[in-house]
Amino acid sequence: MLFEGDLIMLFVVAFLLLFLGGFVVYKNPKSWVHRSYALLSFSLLVWIFSSYFEDTVASPFYGDLLLRVDFSSALFAAFFLLLFCFELSKKIIDRFSYFRWAIFLFPVVGSLLIFFSDYVISGFYTDSFGVLIPTFGMFGFMYNFLIVAISLISISLIVYEYKSAGQAEKAQYIYLLIGISLTVTVALLTNILLTDYIKNSPDYGVYSRLGIFSSVFIAIFPGYAMLRYRLLNMKVIATESLSFIILLVTFVQIFLAENPYQLLIRGLVFMAMLVLIGMLLKSVETEVERKEELQEMANKLAITNEELKRLDNSKSEFISIASHQLRTPLTAIKGFLSLILEGSYGKITPQIEDVINKVYSANGHLVELVENLLNVSRIDSGRIQYQFAPADITEVIRELADSMTIIAKGRGLALSFTYPERPIEPFDMDVQKIREVVSNLIDNAIKYTKEGSIAVSLERRGDTARITVSDTGIGIAPEDIHQLFQKFRRGAGAGKVNVSGTGLGLYVAKSFVDAHGGSLSIESDGVGKGSRFIVELPLRKK
Ligand code: ADP
Repeated sequence: MLFEGDLIMLFVVAFLLLFLGGFVVYKNPKSWVHRSYALLSFSLLVWIFSSYFEDTVASPFYGDLLLRVDFSSALFAAFFLLLFCFELSKKIIDRFSYFRWAIFLFPVVGSLLIFFSDYVISGFYTDSFGVLIPTFGMFGFMYNFLIVAISLISISLIVYEYKSAGQAEKAQYIYLLIGISLTVTVALLTNILLTDYIKNSPDYGVYSRLGIFSSVFIAIFPGYAMLRYRLLNMKVIATESLSFIILLVTFVQIFLAENPYQLLIRGLVFMAMLVLIGMLLKSVETEVERKEELQEMANKLAITNEELKRLDNSKSEFISIASHQLRTPLTAIKGFLSLILEGSYGKITPQIEDVINKVYSANGHLVELVENLLNVSRIDSGRIQYQFAPADITEVIRELADSMTIIAKGRGLALSFTYPERPIEPFDMDVQKIREVVSNLIDNAIKYTKEGSIAVSLERRGDTARITVSDTGIGIAPEDIHQLFQKFRRGAGAGKVNVSGTGLGLYVAKSFVDAHGGSLSIESDGVGKGSRFIVELPLRKK
């Protein structure tokens, strides 16, 4: 070997522990999670140095000292790992915050025993390969047991936390689990569990070094997870872990080179790997970032959507309340105006009669508007109710004919009705609603026709009753037709002909007809060429 490979490795690991531990507390010095991670890193740092150098010092005094430092720093590391895992769990640490101090107490007492008594370590001997082998005192077994138990408890704590974590945190716990389990497994196997088997092998030194170097995992994975609070999916974690292992292997290979030629090749391979893996990770990262952005946007949209729904609901609610409050006084006004016109409060002059008539008609518009608003809010909130019962559609239209004809005449318009030759049998409908639909269509035809005529026809077409209301009025531009069924939508010239229109009637009419399983459609040959409104109602419910 050209280099003292493991000495370099020692410094690499030491640097990583120092750097990540320091950086993590620097990032968030107040957080106990970060603090305990730094404590863990620093005690590992002491551990790797002491257990590395205990084998290399010649003096028995320093050998003994380093051995005791080794054992007590390992104890600290185990308890700081436990502390770290405790801190991760908000639930646990909030309930048992005094645990924090209890956790400090154990390794302190343990270290005192290690340093100043022979209970844990009673001495050591150097084997034929120059490796320092401790001899244990009466608490020796307990010491080893404690370290294994604490490590396992720590890992179980993380598994427990992982299970209840959200999607984004789950990824972080995976990193923690990978890092901690790797270190704990390798370190426990080589330094505690298998020591009896490997103690007498010439490679014992190598094994225990392996244990030391495995603390690189606990430095890197959890450190990385803590510094990177991001949503990561399993694919990224797998890619990154694999890349890291490949890099580590190629890096270590460099130091194992036996001649300059190998050194050059391995160096080049490492560089190439570094670049390739860098590129790979970069592209994975951009993809993840993009996904995160999309996710964030989707979340925002969902929130906005909820907000809009809420607004829409409160708007419907407002309309409903306002309308109810308006309806009562309007009905009262209508009643009193009727009484005045009928002469119930005494004779009135023709002048006053004229004015009252105007007020009466304006009040009528208001009643209609409020009625429509109430219908709209009932439709939108799904509270509208239908009472279906068999009824004769011809009768429904006939009943409307008289009053409508009077209104049309008042406007100088001819209104004609055509009924089917063969009677249409009664079918299920909500008579009230259908009457409202037809009267609204005739009413519109009268409003939007200045001169000419209006024709209402009822016929049977197959399994449907078809009502057509056609007029010779202002007509509708083709581009307006499909919009008129929307709330508050009016055609281009509508405002000039009928000032008080609101654009609610057709919306309500359409949803009434739809509820009957029928259809409402509009036809017009264009502006100024009249329109046809066609209602089709199925005679049998589907
Ligand atoms: P309003 O009549 O109160 O405006 P409607 O929902 O009943 O509300 O009608 C919506 C729009 O449809 C009207 O503003 C008008 O532009 C158009 N419209 C309805 N009926 C006719 C018709 N018979 N002729 C021409 N346009 C019509």
